[in-house]
Amino acid sequence: MTKLLEAFEGVVYPSVLSHIRHLGRLLAGKSVVHVNSTRLGGGVAEILHRLVPLMNELGIDTKWEVITGEDAFFTVTKTMHNAVQGSEKGLSKEMTEVFEETNRENARRLAPIVSEADFVFVHDPQPVPLCALCPERKGKWLWRCHIDASRPNRRVWAYLRNWILPYDGSIFSLPEFAQPMPHPEYLVPPSIDPLSDKNCDLEPGEVTRTLGEFGIDPDRPLAVQVSRFDRFKDPLGVIEAYRLCRRSQDLQLVLAGGEATDDPEGSVVLRDVLDAASGDPDIHVLVLPADAHRTINALQRGADVVLQKSTKEGFGLTVSEALWKEKPVIGGDTGGIRLQIIDRFNGFRVRTAEGAALRLRYLLQHRARAERMGENARAYVRENFLITRQLRNVLAILVAQLQGDRERLEVFVP
Ligand code: UDP
Repeated sequence: MTKLLEAFEGVVYPSVLSHIRHLGRLLAGKSVVHVNSTRLGGGVAEILHRLVPLMNELGIDTKWEVITGEDAFFTVTKTMHNAVQGSEKGLSKEMTEVFEETNRENARRLAPIVSEADFVFVHDPQPVPLCALCPERKGKWLWRCHIDASRPNRRVWAYLRNWILPYDGSIFSLPEFAQPMPHPEYLVPPSIDPLSDKNCDLEPGEVTRTLGEFGIDPDRPLAVQVSRFDRFKDPLGVIEAYRLCRRSQDLQLVLAGGEATDDPEGSVVLRDVLDAASGDPDIHVLVLPADAHRTINALQRGADVVLQKSTKEGFGLTVSEALWKEKPVIGGDTGGIRLQIIDRFNGFRVRTAEGAALRLRYLLQHRARAERMGENARAYVRENFLITRQLRNVLAILVAQLQGDRERLEVFVP
């Protein structure tokens, strides 16, 4: 047994670890490259930081490459990201030219690495043209979509689809995100690492100290949302819910976020959030460095209730992060949040600020019930959303690709 995996003994069933080792043996010596668009910020980077070392430890030679681009490129890819999640705004000819030119430059730079690899995972739309732009490629290429593609802007999707077609398979987080493709499609929801700084156990003293550093009173009720400052995460809706709840319930609110290097809209949304929060000393808007994992861990643990009031969400790692810490979560009734929150069992799914306020008040005023939901929450994540499950899924897909299995393989449906 290897060191990183060994640490999961006692956290997951032994059979999970032996299955991973078995799959790892079938793939030992193979080379894998993951390509995405940022090393810092957001759920994809969060997962790759954990998955890549685990794959290497299993003897699979795994690299992580990041595409580079100017601001104009990331403005285009943000428009594209929003369009895949349903926004009306499309892409102009100039925008697709910027997109393709930047990808051509990246393809030239990365070709020596990705063309020789046995498997290449390309994450999300930003680097999707790489497959077509690397005609010398030898291995199997998989497109990994982390976002909610259930109702994409049709024109933007038609454009992207042409770039996805040459892949050997695509991977979606939920069945409803999958779009018809001529190649195998796999379902793999993301996951959290219970042993990382973001999720490991903390001493109560560290939690209290962290709250104190930000001027948060540990003895008063606290609701927390951790998210990039992105409109789809609905931070303004969270402030509205907080205000409604405050009419009859003492409460402090933390909105903690940071900026992802591939998200140019963050500063605009942050300004709106600061405006909406101004003048209220009980709303704490925290802009944290990208590596503030223990701080986020402490904030989530210090919360009485965690919110993730997204209006669109690929998965929402922050939900599992909070559930793992035995917090009931109030989440937007959308995308991957539906997979994680079972209404009334480990949290509540809501559609409006009023709904969120109602549930917030309920959880703050029914502490025993909230505690039971917190216990359910941790057990549900242990079963479904730990990284060992995702690692097992990814390895199973690679084995299926290696064996030329053309069948649709649904590796995980909770
Ligand atoms: N995160 C962070 N710092 C921040 C905001 C978010 O470390 O300021 C982390 C958060 O804890 C989670 C990930 O970034 O692990 C966000 O993933 P999620 O799937 O919730 O949303 P995404 O940003 O990918 O849309």
